Amino acid sequence: MTTTDLIIIGSGPGGYRAAAYAAEAGLAVTIIEQGEVGGTCLNCGCIPTKTLCRHAEILETLRKADTFGLSDLSYTLDYNRVMDRKRQVVDSLRQGVETLLSAPGITLVRGKAHFTGPKTVAVGEEEYTASHIIIATGSHAKRLPVPGIDDPRVVTSTQLLEKTSIPRRLCIVGAGVIGMEFASIFSSFGSEVTVVEFLKECLPAIDSDIAKRLRQSIARRGVTFLMQSAVKAITSEGVVYERKGKEGTVEADTILIATGRAASTEGLDLEKAGVETSRIGITVDADLRTTAEGIYAIGDVNGITMLAHAATAQGLHVVNQILGREDSIRLHLIPAAIFTLPEAASVGLTEEVCKAEVSGYRCLKGYYRANGKALAMDESEGMVKVLVDADGHLIGCHVYGAHAADLVQEASSLMAMGATIDQLRDIVHIHPTLSEILAEVR
Ligand SMILES: Cc1cc2nc3c(=O)[nH]c(=O)nc-3n(C[C@H](O)[C@H](O)[C@H](O)COP(=O)(O)OP(=O)(O)OC[C@H]3O[C@@H](n4cnc5c(N)ncnc54)[C@H](O)[C@@H]3O)c2cc1C
Repeated sequence: MTTTDLIIIGSGPGGYRAAAYAAEAGLAVTIIEQGEVGGTCLNCGCIPTKTLCRHAEILETLRKADTFGLSDLSYTLDYNRVMDRKRQVVDSLRQGVETLLSAPGITLVRGKAHFTGPKTVAVGEEEYTASHIIIATGSHAKRLPVPGIDDPRVVTSTQLLEKTSIPRRLCIVGAGVIGMEFASIFSSFGSEVTVVEFLKECLPAIDSDIAKRLRQSIARRGVTFLMQSAVKAITSEGVVYERKGKEGTVEADTILIATGRAASTEGLDLEKAGVETSRIGITVDADLRTTAEGIYAIGDVNGITMLAHAATAQGLHVVNQILGREDSIRLHLIPAAIFTLPEAASVGLTEEVCKAEVSGYRCLKGYYRANGKALAMDESEGMVKVLVDADGHLIGCHVYGAHAADLVQEASSLMAMGATIDQLRDIVHIHPTLSEILAEVR
């Protein structure tokens, strides 16, 4: 039995950042990983998709070449080289994480961990014990319970990222963040993309005004959206769906199931440690403590906010608790972005929630079409929505348009400081920048 200060199961952005921070503070950390270090985010999530987004962005810019006075351009997309570049980016970052996890104070154990008791974890024949354990095992793609789901044309996002050719006809089931990003990427790559979504609008968690504009913009690029459509089966004909009582079929050579992700808890033997779960994942309190003393659950596995930076922030907060350090990490103020073309991002309350719950709120808007930098970039499509409470405090920001995530990050920082709209307006913004749209919302 090896005794250490802190055991972390899983080396995604939740686990590896927590390990590095804890070791820097002097704790002896054992981090256990069954696959590649870096987790979903680095190996088959944020990083590979954002690399493909960049390729898609360059293609879209080339398509507008004439606007910039470039004529008679000729180019072909070599998908093997796209895949090579994606691999290089992932490999280089993975090496960085491996170096981080070889720092003094950290022991990386390769293998699948499971609990053998309240404070003991086993990997193969080896047992480890610590007074603090962080579960950071992430999530996996949900399976859609319909006939034909084992059809070889059906893929998860991980499998689609490994395909060596561009699908000719891609059907995406689910218009959440992952579905929308893949729709945007592969339509730029030339696939004929159809998105089938059960709900009335895409991206249910985002401001509906922004979601609608984004969907319409992607539809103008040629993506077909079948909203309020329930997938019934996958057959040799394609994806069979029902919409308003009528059946239809989407023919496709690749079918991406993007209907959400589920917490990865199987095989952990959580009951041996007294860790309880709910429908969304491991049950935790506001400080990420599970139902078992000294055991915490961070990131996708607790199902609260399935984003890489949320996992990291939660991990740092847990380590601070273990160290007895106070922090000001605002776990409920997590900005989010959708890296489609154009981008969308949001933080805080949506207008719908404000309408229902915040008396005296105001919704201020600004438009890209009136901004000098946006016009210079030929990115005039977009809007910024800022929500303020009756006292003028910023309570939400939703952006649709180029570099939306950067604009929302500014709003997010100000919201974390409890700033008002007047304080935002008093901050001098560089001219010309897109950030001026935020400062000038009316
Ligand atoms: C296609 C896609 C695109 C995404 N894009 C973004 C984005 O742009 N921005 C963003 O913020 N988020 C994005 N996400 C979400 C992001 O990847 C996750 O929120 C993030 O990876 C969660 O981090 P984590 O540390 O909780 O878990 P993970 O990153 O999933 O890591 C968990 C690790 O635990 C390991 N593990 C599991 N069980 C065991 C066990 N029993 N023993 C040992 N090891 C184990 C796994 O192998 C894995 O390495 C994306 C996700 C996908 C699928």
